[in-house]
Amino acid sequence: MHPFKFEILHTSSKSSARVGRIHTPHGIIDTPNFVAVGTNGTLKSIDNELVNNIGLQLMFCNTYHLLLQPGRDVVRKAGGLHKFINRNMPIITDSGGFQVFSLAYGSVASELKSQGTKKNDGSVLKINDDGVLFRSYRDGSKFLLTPENSVEAQKDFGADIIIPFDELPPYHIDPAKLEISLDRTHAWEKRSLDTHLKNPNGQAMYAVIHGGVDRKLRIKSCDTLTALPFDGFAIGGSLGKTKSQMFELLEYTLPRLPKEKPNHLLGIGDLESLHTSIPFGIDTFDSSYPTKAARHALILTKNGKLKITRGIHANEFVPLDATCDCHTCQNFTRAYLHHLFKANELTALSLASIHNLHFMVELMKEMRQKILTDQI
Ligand SMILES: [Zn+2]
Repeated sequence: MHPFKFEILHTSSKSSARVGRIHTPHGIIDTPNFVAVGTNGTLKSIDNELVNNIGLQLMFCNTYHLLLQPGRDVVRKAGGLHKFINRNMPIITDSGGFQVFSLAYGSVASELKSQGTKKNDGSVLKINDDGVLFRSYRDGSKFLLTPENSVEAQKDFGADIIIPFDELPPYHIDPAKLEISLDRTHAWEKRSLDTHLKNPNGQAMYAVIHGGVDRKLRIKSCDTLTALPFDGFAIGGSLGKTKSQMFELLEYTLPRLPKEKPNHLLGIGDLESLHTSIPFGIDTFDSSYPTKAARHALILTKNGKLKITRGIHANEFVPLDATCDCHTCQNFTRAYLHHLFKANELTALSLASIHNLHFMVELMKEMRQKILTDQI
């Protein structure tokens, strides 16, 4: 089994962008790279054998959802997540914190719109220094998530990269409360790391840098967490209300992370963010953007996005993208995809998702090539 290792092959002379390679027990992740989100151990509408073939080198699975269904025991009995879902490449899992706190504050998008008025819907029963007590949306049973049992679950899953348990404070939060939350998160991340280091098992753990959009707190988070032996660093918490707020945050956060360790931008992966963030030196991004776009009939191509349900595509007997060698473009036409979407056929979602994911894989290859030749 290969231990976790990160090597940098080239740093651009034009920006802080770098090309690297993350070695994990389940293979290599070339960086920068896009990470697909498979919440329940699957990408929406595509099975994992196909995903392996598309060449998506890292997949993100959600501990919170997998804990509630099918549960830790089933995954352990199956021999771990890779065996259970039939994936032969690396997996990163989160701690469950993100989803539990979304129950308390609403999703990131709705909370941003809400001016902070969204209240706990009753699922979260108690938050204290111990952890979070919540009610399962599946059967109403009570569930206590702590730094220790979140990491132990991710150990059972056999994830290549583990995320420590953290608190996700909302964007609309009083600065004093944000600092209290940050201290709690740091204590939880330390407890997560201690649990991980008792049995490293070839797995890696990335710290999550918090602090919201408060520069002083972000810097405090970088200083606190980089002093601990984490294998990499994820940038999480509220990244701001606008893209420019996020880019400003990356500009002062990235230089404070150790260059010899990989970093990850949590929950971001739309094309604009990706093009702007890579020059700051971001190594991996996770997002459900390409599959979500596909389900809305939005096809990503080298010449921009196309909405396949528009009338002009009804008689186009050509591939979605003439330069694409994905399964969809090799076998089907725009006219057929247009028809499948119009007829509400589920095949439409699979074929569009396969193409969009293939597009992301190829786009990342191109970006790595551009960094290698100092064009980015
Ligand atoms: Zn294609």
